[in-house]
Amino acid sequence: MRSEFWTLPLSELDQQEWEALCDGCALCCLQKLEDDETNEVWYTGVVCRYLDSKCHCKVYDQRHEKVPNCVQLTQARIDEFHWLPQTCAYRLRAEDKPLPSWHPLLAGSRKKMVRKGQDVWAVAEVTDDMVPEEDWQDWLIFKA
Ligand code: SF4
Ligand code: SF4
Repeated sequence: MRSEFWTLPLSELDQQEWEALCDGCALCCLQKLEDDETNEVWYTGVVCRYLDSKCHCKVYDQRHEKVPNCVQLTQARIDEFHWLPQTCAYRLRAEDKPLPSWHPLLAGSRKKMVRKGQDVWAVAEVTDDMVPEEDWQDWLIFKA
């Protein structure tokens, strides 16, 4: 991978650099709701049942079959990244903003990110097999 590839435009990243840009926060594994009137996307404290305590997907190879709305971030969808969390590395770079100092690529590990409460387990409250979908609106935590 190229030195400081995370400062390059997303469109110039190769596949390996693209994958490495993810900070592993797993905030995108929170369930989201879209406001019908404003089209605003809200994140809830309800997290996908397949996420483990270390922010790894337990069903990674079958995730799109198990969870049809599981996020797949590709270069072709850059224009849609505005619904990602504001701290997401892909959204930040799509908006030509720098990565935060706690990003593992800059900090050298996940420790600073976790210490600063930037990973999903700092905000997730329940898993989506514990709360019926019609009640997710009671768990809103932040706007995309
Ligand atoms: S929110 Fe963005 S940076 Fe965080 S895990 Fe999801 S894709 Fe990666
Ligand atoms: S299936 Fe895996 S990657 Fe997809 S939302 Fe659930 S935990 Fe996250």
